[in-house]
Amino acid sequence: MAAPRMPVVFIGHGSPMNAVEDNDYTRTLAAFGARLPRPRAIVCISAHWMTEGTWITHQAHPRTIHDLYGFPKPLFEIQYPAPGDPKLAEDIQTATSGIRINLDDEQWGFDHGAWSVLRHLFPAADVPVLQLSLYMERAADYHFDVGQALAPLRDQGVLILGSGNIVHNLRTIKWDAAAPPYPWALEFDDWVKSKLDAGDARALVADATATEAGRLSIPTPEHWYPFITVLGAAAPGEKPHTIFDGLQNASISMRSVVFGL
Ligand code: ZN
Repeated sequence: MAAPRMPVVFIGHGSPMNAVEDNDYTRTLAAFGARLPRPRAIVCISAHWMTEGTWITHQAHPRTIHDLYGFPKPLFEIQYPAPGDPKLAEDIQTATSGIRINLDDEQWGFDHGAWSVLRHLFPAADVPVLQLSLYMERAADYHFDVGQALAPLRDQGVLILGSGNIVHNLRTIKWDAAAPPYPWALEFDDWVKSKLDAGDARALVADATATEAGRLSIPTPEHWYPFITVLGAAAPGEKPHTIFDGLQNASISMRSVVFGL
């Protein structure tokens, strides 16, 4: 019997403190995770693995990476002990012929973009996880193509999970999570929602930084690209549903969406 088609998920991760906090957002992620069908494996595209070329973790037991500075000690004690799946990494490398994917045996593991989200969605850490890197010299259309190349995995029980942020400006951030959002952050977050609702992936790929609001929201693209890869993995016309929305720290959008659920 064929496996049911897996949804595609984008989660806005925001501050690493969300990894350990009990708030509206983390409770929403936990409830959402409990609704998801159990995947055979997860391919996670995190904002925090930036590389030359595209890489996928190829380790049986990836390590938990604490790529954080100046945060409280409990964050450094977190382990996310999910296994990897080296054979699946090899199969993905072979199957995605349009995209060159390299196998990573030592440089990476699970970074905080992955584990801060996964520990809420899949707290048992018993589903194999592979991380896929961001090829930073490539533009948004490449990251969309990566998503398209990964899309067939959905029919093999693999959950494609992007972890980044639609609005992510650390230069303008307020340390109070509940600080009122900047007008430009709201404007861009609303623009993204309107394009999602209209099914206009082309505009999201091509026009995001055409406005001042977009340029302020995406000062650097690493938190944006995981969202673009998720768009690529969604089927044309597939309707997105909002998992969570709202802004934290004035300039971080926590907007999170799912396709195919
Ligand atoms: Zn981040």
